Amino acid sequence: MTVFASEKYEGVVTCEEDPTNILRKPTPPIGEEEWDLVRSTVQKLIHVREKVLKGGAGLAAPQIGINHPIFIYTPDRTTENLRIVVNPSFEPLGESILEGYEACFSIPLHCVKLKRWEKIKVKYQNLEGISIEKILDGFEAKAFQHEMDHLQGKLTIDHEEAQIQVFTNTPTFQEHMRHVHLEDSKNYLR
Ligand SMILES: [Zn+2]
Repeated sequence: MTVFASEKYEGVVTCEEDPTNILRKPTPPIGEEEWDLVRSTVQKLIHVREKVLKGGAGLAAPQIGINHPIFIYTPDRTTENLRIVVNPSFEPLGESILEGYEACFSIPLHCVKLKRWEKIKVKYQNLEGISIEKILDGFEAKAFQHEMDHLQGKLTIDHEEAQIQVFTNTPTFQEHMRHVHLEDSKNYLR
């Protein structure tokens, strides 16, 4: 079953309940000497994604109350292809922009229409600390940019051009997100 950001989840910081304002704080880079923190943060992220959220395209450390530049994401919403990303950066390739809808576990019952670069070149370290450089496009590029925003203290609703839809209950929100996921699978086909 697909899970949507429709309610409050245990251990996930939401913008309504963020006493330390961690969702709006940029994360400082993390060094090799702190790699134990990377490993424990990744374990927690995977645990929350699997046991609490039971899915989702991505999750960033600030969303579970940890101010480190670490996130996990999946290019196809499956757990098998989960990527672990540490100290990331990216730059757009070309000027093509895609407009799409995004939900976020930290903003329950909201769906936001916003713009993302269609193709990006990313740099990050994996769990072993090895530097990775690759080109992403489509849904994977969108997921990466969403999580990257979290590490910079930015949420979907903070985007200037954001068109925000708020739902009053879980069933209508879930119905809407089902359409979004369908649209995603059409729009982001390679
Ligand atoms: Zn998010």
